[in-house]
Amino acid sequence: MPLLRENRTQVEHGRRALSPGGPARVPAPRALLGTEPGLERVEPVRRRLALGLFTSCANPACDSGWMKLWRSRSVPVFEGGWSCSPACTRAQIEAALLREVDAHGIPEEVHRHRIPLGLAMLEQGWITSAQLRRALEAQKTAGAGRLGHWLVRQQAVSEQLVTRALGLQWSCPVLGLEAHAPEGLTAVLPRLFVDAFGALPLRIAARKIVYLGFESRLDPALALAVERMTGLRAESGLVQESLFRPAYTRMLAATFPPLELIEAASESALVQVLARRVETLKPVASRLVRLHDCLWLRMWTDPQKGPLPQIDTVRDLICSLRSS
Ligand SMILES: [Zn+2]
Repeated sequence: MPLLRENRTQVEHGRRALSPGGPARVPAPRALLGTEPGLERVEPVRRRLALGLFTSCANPACDSGWMKLWRSRSVPVFEGGWSCSPACTRAQIEAALLREVDAHGIPEEVHRHRIPLGLAMLEQGWITSAQLRRALEAQKTAGAGRLGHWLVRQQAVSEQLVTRALGLQWSCPVLGLEAHAPEGLTAVLPRLFVDAFGALPLRIAARKIVYLGFESRLDPALALAVERMTGLRAESGLVQESLFRPAYTRMLAATFPPLELIEAASESALVQVLARRVETLKPVASRLVRLHDCLWLRMWTDPQKGPLPQIDTVRDLICSLRSS
């Protein structure tokens, strides 16, 4: 019977893929090879093989054996790995949470020497020492406001020059806002992060670069989180204040992907909640990334087609640990 032979071949392929470097942990029962229910049970693995999907559980400590793979379950997928059971999803998320909380290799803040703004402008010949002195005095008297603000307001220095000087200070470009379309950029990062950290997604270039605009200081940790979550390269730059403000207001008024905020009492409680969300939604992809004191879980309910997901195909969760 050709059909059965074909299925048997699939089973053999499945077994090899499931048990690299050794025999299958459980021998294939006869039922799989000769009866209708057995053939049905072959289907999930056949489908996954045909689609190039996962044939083994991503949890390294998974002890369910390859028989679990006959179950009709191809989701959830977390960080590129399929998990065979809620327990394995929980284990994957726990490992990711520990990785993010330890955050080795993730620069929370890139410390580097920056030339003071006034000095940078003086060096460029953009202001005189008298202008700088008067602006510093005004700033001191007012007890508020950035030096750039006082230079513009009191010394009639052009705002473009102040932004250019900030760019020199941060060694970053000054970015423009040509044809800024916030609605198409709301899947770059949750609204809460745009709001809290002052980051303005500006545009996507060549389907692989996302430009992020900041008003007066960059946020390297945020740019890194965006890169890790979206897979796009993030290029940060400064935007002139008078252009930044209205664009930022428009961005915050746009429609973002649905967001849930979670505050957990402990890491283990957080793992439980996140695993439950992933098990409930059964995303085709999901990822956990830390940004400052928050953990950001994104779940994709459909495969992403462009450089950014459609906003109705992603769910964001932002989690924080309650400080004791
Ligand atoms: Zn498993």
